[in-house]
Amino acid sequence: MTEQTMILGAGLAGLSAAYHSGYPVFEMRHRPGGAADSSSEQGFVFDLGIHVLQSREPYFLKLLEVLGVSLVTHRRNGWIYSNGSYSLYPFQVNTSHLPWNLRLQCVLGFLMRERDGQPGNYEEWMVRNFGQGFAENFLIPYARKFWRVAPSEMTYEWTGERVPQPRLVEILKGMFRDQDTNMGTHTTFQYPTAAGAGFGAIAAALASKIEPIAYGHRATFIDPVQRVIHFNGGEIRRTYDHLISTIPLPELFRIIPDAPAPVLRAVHRLAFNSIAIVNLAVDRPQVSDKHWIHFPGGETPVFRMSFPGNFCQGLNPEGTSTLQAEISYDRNDRPDRDDLLRQVRADLVRCGILRGDDRVLFEDVVFQNYGYVIYNHAREEALREIQGYLKRVNISTCGRYGEWKYLWSDQSVLSGKRAAQQILREKSRTPVASENLV
Ligand SMILES: Cc1cc2nc3c(=O)[nH]c(=O)nc-3n(C[C@H](O)[C@H](O)[C@H](O)COP(=O)(O)OP(=O)(O)OC[C@H]3O[C@@H](n4cnc5c(N)ncnc54)[C@H](O)[C@@H]3O)c2cc1C
Repeated sequence: MTEQTMILGAGLAGLSAAYHSGYPVFEMRHRPGGAADSSSEQGFVFDLGIHVLQSREPYFLKLLEVLGVSLVTHRRNGWIYSNGSYSLYPFQVNTSHLPWNLRLQCVLGFLMRERDGQPGNYEEWMVRNFGQGFAENFLIPYARKFWRVAPSEMTYEWTGERVPQPRLVEILKGMFRDQDTNMGTHTTFQYPTAAGAGFGAIAAALASKIEPIAYGHRATFIDPVQRVIHFNGGEIRRTYDHLISTIPLPELFRIIPDAPAPVLRAVHRLAFNSIAIVNLAVDRPQVSDKHWIHFPGGETPVFRMSFPGNFCQGLNPEGTSTLQAEISYDRNDRPDRDDLLRQVRADLVRCGILRGDDRVLFEDVVFQNYGYVIYNHAREEALREIQGYLKRVNISTCGRYGEWKYLWSDQSVLSGKRAAQQILREKSRTPVASENLV
């Protein structure tokens, strides 16, 4: 058994770590991409939940160019469905479709909002920034639906540009007419154009430059003292000098049973939601020209609906349309597949997106156990405990579920690069790929 540095997981972070170091990658699945992968069945291509790019990271964009990933740019056509009508995103500046009493509640709440002092949690942050009307009618219900925890249990450090913050004049204008603003994320966004590949084209391009990727290798046990890792229940064993792990932290500690009790307790305090992704294809072209729709209300469990065929040509056969609904759930309370399909189809008809006579050509539900990292109040301290221990046993973690951060795909790629380069620096070796780019 030879000792080497190895990477766990061939999602974007693991692929990037390998690309920038040359270290081998071990992946439990039989393909690369992880959460940024796409599937193709009967000519219908679906990503694992809506995936679009709005990267402003010059290095990442240059990397895509070097990898030959071509992109198409779109102007956002994002909507909100609420109170039986559609408004342009973000609704803070597009309330003209709402009943007057709601419009007035929103604007008065905004004017009267308390601005002094620091909010103690995400719920307070919403009320202070937007006022009671917006918060109680839209933001808080949407947050509960999306995160599956009360927003008072969350911090707000992750919000940044993700939650658009309007000015009074924009709110007032929006009470009378739709405004297509540059507010919020993804006002323009990009999507890979490779035929039939979907967002997975990025991971596929990275993977094509990496050798070897050991697919079908599920890490099942780590002895951090002897630095031994088992794959597939001990069928394959390797020693390592350093591990770069991109697998979710709770999964990593499931296979380090001998980690100290305070560390395991800290891992237990990490929270995340899970996402059910309902993929549908129907026999009608362009059922919608929208890119996505948010559903803050209780009329459907769906929090977001998107139309993959509008991101790029060639993701569905001519004369058909694809639709993708996302529903978040608590991992201990996974919805039933058939109930979900029935409900989503009925909701889409009720919201005027599908017609009763649309013929469904394809339907599937994908359950993503790890959806969004929840920034609960315990997170920061738990991560300090966890990372302190991992550093002592020569395990670095990176990526969305390794750093345990709300990272977009470009940030996950950069996270993998940073982790690999840190180890190369410690070993005083030159990065493999990046000298061509930076
Ligand atoms: C619903 C959703 C929507 C998103 N939308 C966007 C978007 O619009 N734009 C955007 O830029 N980003 C988006 N993201 C974020 C983006 O998907 C992530 O930042 C990125 O894919 C994370 O990559 P990663 O490598 O860190 O993690 P992962 O992709 O999770 O990679 C981890 C890998 O480890 C493997 N693994 C797990 N356990 C083991 C084990 N025991 N042994 C071996 N291998 C193992 C997994 O199979 C996986 O391949 C979205 C994410 C989600 C969940």
